[in-house]
Amino acid sequence: MNRFRHQVPPCFFKDFFYLKLFRKTVSIAVFSLFLFFSQSLAQAPAAEEDSLQIVYLANASGVFENCRCGSNPLGGLDHIAFLLKELRKKNPRLLFIDGGDFTNTYPYNALNKLIVDIYKALRPDYLMLADQEMQQDNEYTLTLLRQSSFRFLATNYDISGFNLNSSVKISAGKKKIVLLSYLDKSSFWYSKSVKGLSFNEEKFARVYRQAVQGSDFRMVLFHGEDAGLAEFIKKFPEIDLIFLGHSQSAKDWLDRKPAIIAPGSDTEFLTLLSLRFQNNGPPLVKSRKIPISLQIPTEPVVEKLILHFKKTKEQK
Ligand SMILES: [Zn+2]
Repeated sequence: MNRFRHQVPPCFFKDFFYLKLFRKTVSIAVFSLFLFFSQSLAQAPAAEEDSLQIVYLANASGVFENCRCGSNPLGGLDHIAFLLKELRKKNPRLLFIDGGDFTNTYPYNALNKLIVDIYKALRPDYLMLADQEMQQDNEYTLTLLRQSSFRFLATNYDISGFNLNSSVKISAGKKKIVLLSYLDKSSFWYSKSVKGLSFNEEKFARVYRQAVQGSDFRMVLFHGEDAGLAEFIKKFPEIDLIFLGHSQSAKDWLDRKPAIIAPGSDTEFLTLLSLRFQNNGPPLVKSRKIPISLQIPTEPVVEKLILHFKKTKEQK
């Protein structure tokens, strides 16, 4: 059912021709408005061009919908999809990045296929693969991910059969921003060796040095335990901002170097980060944790995928 359908008195349109004409006129009017606002965005003042907005998610753990349990239940990729669509409407330059552990906590092929399909609808700009994606017996999910057109970011590791980016260069006006990723071995507490995964610390050190020399602001997706994070910060002091993954805290630390963005878990929060560069100083960093509550509508495309998954499950 189309919940946004407007009711029109039957006497208003004399016949189908007028109905079609009316619809066409409305479409043209909406498209003209869209064009007007697109042009306004293109002519935004220079200060706006020196800013960057990032939506960050990690530790989604295959939570595709709200459990509707307990008081004020949070979470659901179906709600996140709606929110992302609205945020992109306001800012088409918005980046959506996922810091890993987006698949289920144990291998569950049908559910992980749903998650991969939902992520295709979410259109992440960059994804990080981490321990949950690479856990034992998760080959089916890895094959789906290998076959997808997602862009993966992996600076200190390689996975056989994957085309991985070792760094991402982003421009915000005249400012150059670099994004790297670091998968800490401590996240693989249950398994000492993972098939097809190899770490390359030298590569990370090399790409880090290049980033220090050639950029104004350096960000890293760090996936691992807190102890590993402390060591990492000591070793690479020129990192300006860290997006945490694996660690399930939901509290950001912005008044320090590096600033730390913590994602929470199970799709309970979406982080909206904004960087605004001013002259030669460091950028103004702001973050907002958006609770994924039932008040946020769900995205119909994702709703359909979930419904199909549930129906298929019932038939088994
Ligand atoms: Zn993890």
